[in-house]
Amino acid sequence: MDLRYTDEELAFRDEVRAFFATALPPEIRRKCELGQRIGKDEMKRWVRILHERGWATPSWAPEWGGTGWDPVRQYIFKEELAMAPAPEPISFNMNMIGPTLIAFGSEAQKRHFLPRIARMEDWFCQGFSEPGAGSDLAALRTGAVLDGDHYVVNGQKLWTSTAHHADWCFLLVRTDPAAKKQQGITYLLMDMRSPGVSVRPIVTIDGHHETNEMFLDNVRIPVANRVGEENKGWDYAKYLLGHERSGIARVGVSKFRVRRARQLAAKVMQGGRPLIEDARFQERVAEIEIELKALEITQMRLISETARRPSDKPDPKSSILKVKGSQLQQAAAELLLEVAGLHALEFDPGFVGGRPDADDDADDWALTIAPNHYWARHVSIVGGSNEIQRNILAKTVLGL
Ligand SMILES: Cc1cc2nc3c(=O)[nH]c(=O)nc-3n(C[C@H](O)[C@H](O)[C@H](O)COP(=O)(O)OP(=O)(O)OC[C@H]3O[C@@H](n4cnc5c(N)ncnc54)[C@H](O)[C@@H]3O)c2cc1C
Repeated sequence: MDLRYTDEELAFRDEVRAFFATALPPEIRRKCELGQRIGKDEMKRWVRILHERGWATPSWAPEWGGTGWDPVRQYIFKEELAMAPAPEPISFNMNMIGPTLIAFGSEAQKRHFLPRIARMEDWFCQGFSEPGAGSDLAALRTGAVLDGDHYVVNGQKLWTSTAHHADWCFLLVRTDPAAKKQQGITYLLMDMRSPGVSVRPIVTIDGHHETNEMFLDNVRIPVANRVGEENKGWDYAKYLLGHERSGIARVGVSKFRVRRARQLAAKVMQGGRPLIEDARFQERVAEIEIELKALEITQMRLISETARRPSDKPDPKSSILKVKGSQLQQAAAELLLEVAGLHALEFDPGFVGGRPDADDDADDWALTIAPNHYWARHVSIVGGSNEIQRNILAKTVLGL
């Protein structure tokens, strides 16, 4: 069943779907189907294809290259992207630093960085979290001291995803240690090639290197690379973290996983019959699909409320989307694990980033299933953990 899109929205959906069917390079699509990681060059190639079509930065203001789509069209685009399946352009560039610069950057920063961010000539990473400053981000201790027309930065960042690919980092630093903790924070743009920046890999439980520790030792950052005013960084960071809630539930990601589980379950034999015929398996699929439908309807309700009453602040009810969306992404990853069964025991982290030639009729399709199941654990931690989201819901929605 389709949600009640208008005829124009359905036509838009078909246009997006047709574009993905022809423009997405088949080897990249295959890697996405198999749940393999997309390399840096592949990501850049795909973003440039989107950029040529004018679709790399849908949520940006039109004067800076946005599409001007309403929230429903933005949602449709994201869902179609996930179900193609195509790589999602990196969020640090498209959803975080781009919109932040549009809102708070200087003219010079906008003119220099925005076109480079949109085409991924500059890859940004996010230097916010630190040891002891994750959920309680305002406790961050990395310090910056003004020295002429530079800040001198010392400290450590943690979990800095894709820092090993990045050209730049948007960084939160403490510039006023005496002020209340939210008030002494400044937002800087750091060239990753600056002397004193070192990046050390963290290999996660899936065997993959995505995230890092980052050490900053007397790194000099020009004052011209400060975003907005000194000591106002917390406000900009809050804006950034609240931006782009429309696709937060990632229904498309879960739908794609369920569709893939169904396809594979038609081939996998259990007790002499294809697994798809097993009543218990069918029940599990139905449970996830019903919850996904409920989540999609909730997402659409929030989108239409936001369209009726636009606001700069994210609706606290979007925490429901984050909690439920991450749980369903994890449930769908677990469903795939169930399909793979014993084959998933053949754990090959190398294959996750590897060749896109796995054969669905052989067992090598199963090599990514366990690593992706483990990787899916992080979705309930990042972007504000589910416990933090429940606190928000308790306070602001339930009034507890
Ligand atoms: C794979 C991965 C990639 C990441 N990438 C980046 C990145 O690129 N850039 C970046 O800056 N950060 C990144 N992060 C960091 C992420 O934002 C933090 O891990 C997250 O904010 C949680 O912080 P923490 O790890 O310090 O855990 P903590 O805040 O120490 O939390 C530990 C546990 O306690 C719970 N908890 C904490 N406070 C409360 C409370 N008040 N009430 C109830 N429960 C609470 C949490 O929910 C969690 O279960 C990444 C993390 C992961 C796992």
